[in-house]
Amino acid sequence: MSTAVITNIGELATNDPERDGLLGLLHDAAVVVDGSRIAWVGPAAEAPDADVQVDAGGRAVIPGFVDSHSHLVFAGDRSAEFEARMIGEPYTAGGIRTTVAKTRAASDEQLTSHVARLVAEMRAQGTTTVEIKSGYGLSVPDEARSLAVARQFTDETTFLGAHVVPADTTPEDYVDLVTGPMLAAAAPHARWIDVFCEDGAFDVDQARTILTAGSDSGLRGRLHANQLTYGKGVQLACELGLAAVDHCTFLSTLDVESLRDSRTIATLLPGVEFSTRQPYPDARGLIDVGVRVALASDCNPGSCFTSSMALCIALAVREMRMSPAEALHAATAMGAAALDRNDVGVLAPGKAADLVLLDAPSYVHLAYRPGVPLVSGVWQQGRPVVSG
Ligand SMILES: [Zn+2]
Repeated sequence: MSTAVITNIGELATNDPERDGLLGLLHDAAVVVDGSRIAWVGPAAEAPDADVQVDAGGRAVIPGFVDSHSHLVFAGDRSAEFEARMIGEPYTAGGIRTTVAKTRAASDEQLTSHVARLVAEMRAQGTTTVEIKSGYGLSVPDEARSLAVARQFTDETTFLGAHVVPADTTPEDYVDLVTGPMLAAAAPHARWIDVFCEDGAFDVDQARTILTAGSDSGLRGRLHANQLTYGKGVQLACELGLAAVDHCTFLSTLDVESLRDSRTIATLLPGVEFSTRQPYPDARGLIDVGVRVALASDCNPGSCFTSSMALCIALAVREMRMSPAEALHAATAMGAAALDRNDVGVLAPGKAADLVLLDAPSYVHLAYRPGVPLVSGVWQQGRPVVSG
C-alpha cells in the first residue's frame, strides 16, 4: 500500500478535538495518507516522507462533507410543482405520491443509474459520506429494491417505508405492513429506520411503534419531525435516544430542553426552507443552549432538490446565524455524529482519508462565496476521486 503526503496546505480544518478551536485549524500544514486512512497531520515543514507528494498550492483543505439525510432513490421530475409553488399557485395534491408512482414504474437499472448520477454530483461538490433513504416505493418489493439500490453506494442506508400512507390502504393496515413484511424485506439492506412524523403522515404513537419494531430487527432509529408544525416528534426522538432528529423547524421550549438534555443530534436542513419559503429553524438558539446541531441537504425531488452541502453552509450562516466555523463543523463532524460514526468528518491519524481541497485560502469562502464551485479536489478513502 502506498503513502501520499498532501503538503503546502494554506489552512487545514481538522475538526480534531485535541487541537485548538472548534475546527482545530492548522496553517502551512500537511496530511499523510496511508492506504485508506490518515497516518499523520501537522506542520508541512515536519511532514514525513511519502511515496507520492501532492502540492495543495496554499489551498484550504477540509474534511469531506458528511451528508446525513438524503432521498436519492426515486424517478421522475417535479420541477413543475416547484415552479407552481414559486409563482404562488397552490399545491396540487400528490407530492410524494407522484414520485412513488414514477419510482414503482422505473426499472432497477434506471433507479441505479439515477442514484449513481446524484452520488457523483455530490462527490464532485465535496460530499464523501452520504446517507440514503428509501421511501418512494411504499410496497414490500419496492422498498426492498430501493434499499438494495442505495446499498450499492453507501453503508448508511435508511428504511423509510413510513414516509406517507399510500392511497390504496388505511393508516392502521399500512403501519402493520411497515412493521411486518416490509420491515423483514428491508432490514437486510438497511442500517437505519426512519419515520416521517408529521400531521398528514404518521403521528407520534405510530412513529413509536415503527421505530420500536425497527429496533427489534436491529435497525437504529432516526426521525423526521417538527418540519411543518409543532408536535411531539422531537421529544419522542430524545426519549428513545435516537442518533438524530431531522428538520426541527417548529420547536417548543420543551423540545429545545429535551434536545439539550439528550445526545440526540438536531439535524437542520436549510435547503428545504429555502426551496419551500418556510421559516428557517432557530440554529442560533439551539447552539447557544448546547444542542448538538448537524447540517444536511435532504436532497429529494419534492421539497429540496439540491445536493450542495456548500449551499447548506451558506444558508446556515446567512439565514440561521451560525458562524462559518459552526456551519462547517455541522456539515462534517456533526454529520458523522448524526450517523453514529467517528471515523469520518475528522482529519486525524487513524481516521478515513476523506478530504476536500478548496480553490480558496480559507473554509470561510464556502459561505463568503455562495454558489461558486470552490471544490478543486476530493479524496475518498485515500484515493483522489475528483481532481482539478
Ligand atoms: Zn427528508
